[in-house]
Amino acid sequence: MATAALTSRDTRIEYLIGREQRRQSRSLSLIPSENHVSEAVLRATGSVLTNKYSEGYPGRRYYEGQAVVDVIERIAIERACDLFGVDHANVQPYSGSPANLAVYLAFLEPGDTVMGMSLEAGGHLTHGWGVSATGRWFRPVRYGVRRDTGTVDMDEVRELALRERPKLIWCGGTAIPRMIDFAAFAEVAREVGALLAADVAHIAGLIAGGAHPSPVGHADVITTTTHKTLRGPRGAMIMCDARRAQAIDRAVFPGLQGGPHDHTTAAIAVALHEAAQPAFRDYAHAVVANARVLAEELAERGFDLVSGGTDNHLILIDLTAKGVTGGQAAEALDRAGLTCNRNTVPFDPRKPLDPSGIRLGTPAVTTRGMGPAEMVEIARCVDEVVDAARRGDEGSIERIRDRVSELAEAFPVPGT
Ligand SMILES: *Cc1c(COP(=O)(O)O)cnc(C)c1O
Repeated sequence: MATAALTSRDTRIEYLIGREQRRQSRSLSLIPSENHVSEAVLRATGSVLTNKYSEGYPGRRYYEGQAVVDVIERIAIERACDLFGVDHANVQPYSGSPANLAVYLAFLEPGDTVMGMSLEAGGHLTHGWGVSATGRWFRPVRYGVRRDTGTVDMDEVRELALRERPKLIWCGGTAIPRMIDFAAFAEVAREVGALLAADVAHIAGLIAGGAHPSPVGHADVITTTTHKTLRGPRGAMIMCDARRAQAIDRAVFPGLQGGPHDHTTAAIAVALHEAAQPAFRDYAHAVVANARVLAEELAERGFDLVSGGTDNHLILIDLTAKGVTGGQAAEALDRAGLTCNRNTVPFDPRKPLDPSGIRLGTPAVTTRGMGPAEMVEIARCVDEVVDAARRGDEGSIERIRDRVSELAEAFPVPGT
């Protein structure tokens, strides 16, 4: 019905949304930060709640007419607290990046030292990278991974922290294929008197489903997006204990934002409800199991996996030995209907826009119901496409495209 209404008003955008829907249906998203939300989440996102203004927090708003919105936001908060086992959750951040900025605003002054994982090693822009406001308004120091293992060296983290005395330490990132040792980071933070923020944007769904250890009890503040493995709408949450609740809430509003996106809040509540069901535990474990199979199959075909494999939903591949760049591989894979992204690898000699690697992930294909057998087929296709890209063999890529779209259409995208 909503689509019919849109057709009569704006045929161009309607046509383009339809095209995007077909693109998603006929291809496979191997982008580790993407997922397919349920029809219930889609409906909440597209609801009349988008019409409402509700600056403030439940019971303390600057606008009237909050009878419904207050209840919705309280439900979202309560579900977040129950699911993750925290005292307090702020569900208003517009997305992951502003959620992280709110943490700086809550606890740091401009010029304070912040320590985070370097972008090239797998960290996020908002953990103090130079082009980000967080790297310009604060003094960033960065840890990376060891060249020989491809994993974080906690001794290096500790040494750096002792030398630089950061006020805030970030753990977590966007291209980390291994488990994060939250307890070890907490120990370092305690030793240097820093606040520990765990950014679990990528792995929140795995944590909720019991497929990755939780930072609760270790990190002082936890930030997450809601649209990656958690499989909700585009948004974010900040979680903490009761002592830091007020500082976080004030930083989000009025510190950084105006009115919350109430339609997103409702959709977050729906996603949190879904994530609390037994089926979601199965999903989270299947995401990890699928990634493991995909990683093993790729390694067997001679792919060089950073850290040698994966513990989570994500695989980072250094393509140097395959004779193609990350960009060449990602573009060829996209032509074959396997959507992924180019990515720097640790100690990458190439530039971020033209790096040596690609990043693959299983959250979206697992949502479509795929299992180990499909992972084997995907690994086969990835291998053939990369080889074809190296040889400049467009004909082979076309033929693989047909195989991929057949596979994709056998596993429909929810809500289509
Ligand atoms: C995705 C991501 C973010 C940012 O989220 P946006 O919603 O894109 O702003 C922050 N931190 C990490 C670790 C992420 O993976």
